[in-house]
Amino acid sequence: MGKKTLFDLIDQNEKVLKDMARTIWENPEGAFNEKKASGLQRDYLAKQGFNIIDVPDVETAFIAETGQGKPVIGILGEYDALPGMSQKVSSVKEAYDNSGYGHGCGHNLLGTGGVGAVAALKELMETEHIKGTLRYYGCPAEETLSGKVVMARKGVFDDLDACISWHPASMNVVWGCSFLAVNSMKFAFKGIPAHAAAAPQAGRSALDAVELMNVGANYLREHVIEKARIHYVITNGGMAPNIVPDNAEVWYYVRAPRRADVREITERLKKIAQGAAMMTETTMEYELVAGCYDVIASKTLGELMHNNMVEVGPPKFTKEDYEFGSKLSALTTKDEKKKVMSTYFAPDHVLDKVLCDEIIEIDDSDLIMAGSVDAGDVSYIVPFAQITAATWPVGTAAHTWIATASSGSGIGMNAMMFAAKTMAGTVYDLFKDTTKVDAAKAEFEKRLGGFKYISPFDE
Ligand SMILES: [Zn+2]
Repeated sequence: MGKKTLFDLIDQNEKVLKDMARTIWENPEGAFNEKKASGLQRDYLAKQGFNIIDVPDVETAFIAETGQGKPVIGILGEYDALPGMSQKVSSVKEAYDNSGYGHGCGHNLLGTGGVGAVAALKELMETEHIKGTLRYYGCPAEETLSGKVVMARKGVFDDLDACISWHPASMNVVWGCSFLAVNSMKFAFKGIPAHAAAAPQAGRSALDAVELMNVGANYLREHVIEKARIHYVITNGGMAPNIVPDNAEVWYYVRAPRRADVREITERLKKIAQGAAMMTETTMEYELVAGCYDVIASKTLGELMHNNMVEVGPPKFTKEDYEFGSKLSALTTKDEKKKVMSTYFAPDHVLDKVLCDEIIEIDDSDLIMAGSVDAGDVSYIVPFAQITAATWPVGTAAHTWIATASSGSGIGMNAMMFAAKTMAGTVYDLFKDTTKVDAAKAEFEKRLGGFKYISPFDE
């Protein structure tokens, strides 16, 4: 009984879980189109006796629930793939198929690890008569920073008491750091078309507006906080030089360590866009494509996850895993690896390893990883923590063909088993000792300081 049984149950399910992760890897689907992946997980969990709850208007999202009463604990899963990432399980760059998509972020493992954890927990909850509600959240579209934000807006996380997840990377460590809050937005300008040589005076150029907006935004850079990031691409700049463009569009990302900073910079950027429209006598339409919060990483839950990682022990990599890992590892120089690992705040000695075969402990609680995750929104609604597991050889950058190859290999699969056990063990601890849930909630309330989550779409 207890955790040993829990970990055994996950091991007994190894083939099912690895097959599921492999099937999702072989059928990569982009954001909000994860029909096969979500269907596979949904059907499996329904068969295990979970109650399946749909998320209105989000076809590829679902919640699988079991048990009853408090506490309510959730595990977040993802399954979307990335465009341009198709790759065989090989150390030579070669597309797996012509789908154009591939699991360069390992989300085939991410969701499946969660499925493995909740399936085992359900069995144990029944035999040990454990009180509480367990949920698996099938979350689409992480790569476009949208799935969990859309789900959060529908209130599906509101009654949770604690929530955990994991993410593929190349170390076994708790992510105690935050991530950058972000707004992804489009500014579309409309002008008046005209012959650029014969009647330029009749035209009002939407492209001029885009260019003037970008000039304004580039001046804005000097007057925002140092850690803010502003990036853009022109998605429509007109059709031909001899036609005054009547339509033009620019797509911006604004990132900053705190949501409030993103909000403030966004408002200033909107003024710049309005100014550009005024200067060019065009009209401007603003669209918030996606937005998410920074991350509050629960220290209480993080500590519990760390203890569980230690209890589980590092991923069980095989001889083949090391052989394949060495081949992949040889494709990256030590310098490149160092750059990647510094973004994860990795200790130096990890760089000497092909695969991370230990549990790493770092205090990154004051640090911010220079990316954005939609789990940030969840972390502002409920105490949240996540770990990473060594899914790829040390120094592998996410969103690369090497990451796709490793995510479909034994390395990824064995890292997933480790993550599933760690998450299951953590949830088990929370159910068995609800004072830990109370502690996580107390920490959360203190850090929020009375702030109530508002969706980026409702700000
Ligand atoms: Zn990812």
